[in-house]
Amino acid sequence: MTAESPIRIAIVGAGPSGFYAAQALLDIACACEIDIIERLPTPYGLIRSGVAPDHPTTKTVQATFERTATDPRVRLFGNVTVGKEIALAELRALYDAVILAVGAPVDARLDIPGRDLGGVYGAAQFVGWYNGHPDFADLDPALDDPGAVVIGNGNVAIDIARILCRSIPELEATDLADHALGLLARSAIRDVHIVGRRGPVESKFTNVELSELGEMDNAVALAAATDLPDAVDGDVSPRDRRMKEKNLRSFQAFAQADRTSRPRGIRFAFFARPHEIVGSDRVRSVVFERMRIADGSPAGTGAFFEIPCGLVVSAIGYRGAPLAGLSDADRAGADPSGRIEDGLYAVGWFKRGPSGKIATNRADGDSVARVLIAETTASARPGRQGLIERLGRANAGWVDFAGWKHIDSEEVGTARPAAPRRKLTRIDEMLAVAARQR
Ligand code: NAP
Repeated sequence: MTAESPIRIAIVGAGPSGFYAAQALLDIACACEIDIIERLPTPYGLIRSGVAPDHPTTKTVQATFERTATDPRVRLFGNVTVGKEIALAELRALYDAVILAVGAPVDARLDIPGRDLGGVYGAAQFVGWYNGHPDFADLDPALDDPGAVVIGNGNVAIDIARILCRSIPELEATDLADHALGLLARSAIRDVHIVGRRGPVESKFTNVELSELGEMDNAVALAAATDLPDAVDGDVSPRDRRMKEKNLRSFQAFAQADRTSRPRGIRFAFFARPHEIVGSDRVRSVVFERMRIADGSPAGTGAFFEIPCGLVVSAIGYRGAPLAGLSDADRAGADPSGRIEDGLYAVGWFKRGPSGKIATNRADGDSVARVLIAETTASARPGRQGLIERLGRANAGWVDFAGWKHIDSEEVGTARPAAPRRKLTRIDEMLAVAARQR
């Protein structure tokens, strides 16, 4: 590998895992050419469309990714879909190695009757909607009922409940999409129920996120004292025990809270497995079966209860999207090193499933980059030049990093007072801005 004959690598996906992998490759291999191919005209994946808008500090990592994107060895090809404008097999023929960093964008399926009723959404849809993801800009959820149910006991459930309960002045100061701000300003929601099939100690909340619910201006977090054990029992690591003990203390404080002290309530319900979503066209309630823990596992009791609501968001995890040219078996074959087969690697949530924080992807990108560089030699493959020619033959334009910066400037320049940006949510609009100002 020399400057004249660099290793040519394509990374599919411009989210955190793609950018961390790119940065790691740049750090290890001086002579490389890295092309980041992204389906949307905008980079940064979940930083832009997954991280809660009221958590702006989580998004500051974008500045690091921008440094990577502007390294002379790196190019962004936005608005290019692998499997549409170019097949995965073609990409692999053009580059010495391809890294799939396409995340886990699809909601895990809530397999109960009524899941297709109006007013029932997966977290990927709902979070995408309030964050202005173009795929979900038209979701238009009705927020006209006082009750809302969020199913799942992970941090995504907390994000959703918090956004549903924030005051409008709080939301106005964020990059929440305009369409979501408009609907939330008219929201009739008063109580958001976060429901878990296991207990408070088994929940997957991290304490920074959980305890934040106890400090909201507009909402009070509530738990039932009868659901809370006195202590954290069982075989858990010291680190997990500390987290669970902190969570238990937060829930104990929530059990003392007064619902009437704030306009909205965030109510935790535990040991409740979703059984059926009830309604004719639209959800009217959710029926849950009460659970008990037997030998460490939840078991049904045969007793049921119902929560009336007009909105259900299921936040029970994500899975990968089908990627043309790659079977599920291939994907499952990615070992922890990230290697799928010769010249093809996986990184981030696409490799290890939806777990961990944004920064977890850093170590992951690092280890995959090391394996890739150890296994790859520079060849006569054309890399970037071949991609440009291929896209040209398909008459497919792309948005480069300069084009994204035009979108970025437009968004920042048209922001509400105090907000960091006003997100463009339509692909056509983004492409027009990227092209117009060039
Ligand atoms: P998660 O942490 O894996 O939580 C998923 C929840 O869904 C669990 O409570 C799980 O219960 C429940 N669940 C799964 N299948 C279910 C079913 N069929 N019926 C009822 N409940 C079901 O996933 P997540 O909340 O989507 O978060 C994904 C990752 O992103 C996590 O690592 C999370 O920490 C991270 N994240 C971090 C932040 C932050 O740091 N601020 C914010 C958002 C997300 P069981 O435990 O019983 O399976």
